Amino acid sequence: MFANYHTHTARCHHAVGTERQYIEAAIQAGYKVLGFADHGTYIIDNFNYRIRMRPDEVAGYIDTLKALREEYKNDIRIHIGFELEYYPSHFDKTLEFLKQFDYEYLILGQHYIDDGLERTHVMKPGSGDEMLVKYVDTVIAGIKTGKFSYVAHPDVVFFDGDDAFYKTHMTRLCRAAKEEGIPLEINCLGVHEGRCYPNEKFWKIARDVGNSVIIGVDAHNPQILLNRDIVRKCEELSRRFDLFPLRELKFRDPKA
Ligand SMILES: [Zn+2]
Ligand SMILES: [Zn+2]
Repeated sequence: MFANYHTHTARCHHAVGTERQYIEAAIQAGYKVLGFADHGTYIIDNFNYRIRMRPDEVAGYIDTLKALREEYKNDIRIHIGFELEYYPSHFDKTLEFLKQFDYEYLILGQHYIDDGLERTHVMKPGSGDEMLVKYVDTVIAGIKTGKFSYVAHPDVVFFDGDDAFYKTHMTRLCRAAKEEGIPLEINCLGVHEGRCYPNEKFWKIARDVGNSVIIGVDAHNPQILLNRDIVRKCEELSRRFDLFPLRELKFRDPKA
């Protein structure tokens, strides 16, 4: 792989490894571009930062990456970003807070659809049709902000209901992404952990809609960047559905 834009660090409290360890692993694996998109912070009253960077941890993340970007500039190109949920009531305040930092891009990773409460993960089976619709509505609203450069694991939501229902709603998501020119990510972590995604039903829809796609490692430990097998599986999936993963990502300016 030439580039990966989905890299975490220990700063989100549920990944392991330092920025430097991820960079060294990426160089060893032959990457030319490495984008960090650790789970960003949120400006939400009484928020539980158990799996997120706290606001006071953001400066350390940015400063560390800026220094490493310079140090490793002859070996690899480093980009600085965040993975964020779209929490409508808190999005503006969060972006306003992040404005002071030198970062380049956001990716949209919608794991929760409860506007910042983070109680029920969308991968959790059981909530059915209602959860799917709410997930799709939330992701579309996130896409429409124009702040995100791509949608991480758009197929993260668990759904074992009616195929036609799934198709109807996921087609809405795929069309919104296409209209906004936002790529959809085929996620290596899902492959690695045998999760409910990548979901072939979803990628069939993306093929029919004609979405642009990108492969993301979603690295939560440095070693995974050396795992070629999971990338190969994502490439195979993309070929099977006539999708052609982008080599490089064009950033949307989150501060614009
Ligand atoms: Zn994570
Ligand atoms: Zn991620």
